[in-house]
Amino acid sequence: MSVGLYIHVPFCRTRCHFCAFYLQIHRHDKALAYLEALRREIHLHTSLNSFGGQCPSTLYFGGGTPTTLSPDQLDAIVARVRTCFGLQEGAEITLEAHPDTVTEEGLRHLVQTGCNRISFGAQSMDEEELIKIGRRTSAKATSRAVEWARAAGFSNINLDLIYGLPGQTMESWIATLGDALILEPTHLSCYALTVEEDTRLAVDLRRGDRTEPDALLQNAMEDEAALRLTKAGFQRYEISNYCRPGYACRHNLLYWQDGDYLGLGPSAQSYLDGVRFGNVEDLAAYQKALEKGQLPTGEEEKLSLRQRQREALVFGLRLTEGVDLQALGKQSQDSGGKEALYCLTQQGFLEERSGRIKLTALGRRYADSVAVSLL
Ligand code: SF4
Repeated sequence: MSVGLYIHVPFCRTRCHFCAFYLQIHRHDKALAYLEALRREIHLHTSLNSFGGQCPSTLYFGGGTPTTLSPDQLDAIVARVRTCFGLQEGAEITLEAHPDTVTEEGLRHLVQTGCNRISFGAQSMDEEELIKIGRRTSAKATSRAVEWARAAGFSNINLDLIYGLPGQTMESWIATLGDALILEPTHLSCYALTVEEDTRLAVDLRRGDRTEPDALLQNAMEDEAALRLTKAGFQRYEISNYCRPGYACRHNLLYWQDGDYLGLGPSAQSYLDGVRFGNVEDLAAYQKALEKGQLPTGEEEKLSLRQRQREALVFGLRLTEGVDLQALGKQSQDSGGKEALYCLTQQGFLEERSGRIKLTALGRRYADSVAVSLL
């Protein structure tokens, strides 16, 4: 089984109104201190042999905005990962990027470093909508960034889109999908907007400056995306993710296929050998722990066999292909789990075909509630 490495870069130039990720506004001195702490964390995990001698098959830079770091800084991290953990031949190296933080020259440098997948947070191709969510960028900047990435040598390009944005209509969502397709990405992630606590959007909603996303409209937008993207040749391989054949995100597949991964950086989550653990969500505390030679772990839980099976089922159900019940250890499943599967199947949320259990169309719509019933 492959293992993956995730690196959380906790910096952005500004904070988007809907975003609840752990991050700080980028500053050169803070970035340097973070890089030093990350260097220590990599060395600590190397000495602890956290991967049990395996080399990661994927490296994913997420955030935050990894491209607030310079190409040289990212290059140095990749080089350190190669030296300390090794990377498998043909490893997928993904970089999340904000369109305003890249240049063609910088992207060329990153391709030479070995980055072979780039994921742009486009969110919308409608200028008005971008302003309403505090995105200081433009659809033009996204188009230009994609062109530069392709010219630099990236052949695997993702765009993140959000539906249910303030002021967004079905017409503008369809226009965003159309504009995104014109850019010929190999992968598209379409997420329903959710209002997270302690975000500027939540405050705006309480004040009445924005209106709540309309659930029915969001459902219709999801259906429209599925229709248009599959018609354009994309495969919906996960609830929110579409790819050209052969371009599914290998790193994210590890999350959904019960794979092991190590997360580095503040707030990064890990799952190794049945143990879930997460780093502290605080840059200063993260740095302090590493200065003392300690792992910056905030929480840790060893899962029982029953918990592992149930989690593997819940994550696996997000995939269109569903879950192989045999591989999941159907025989040893607890009776409560079997009963929940039976009830959800009777209610039309799940279906079992040729030894695989999958969400039905109804189940996809209520995937979170299905997950709660199974955990
Ligand atoms: S650029 Fe991405 S990570 Fe940064 S604030 Fe916006 S949504 Fe969040």
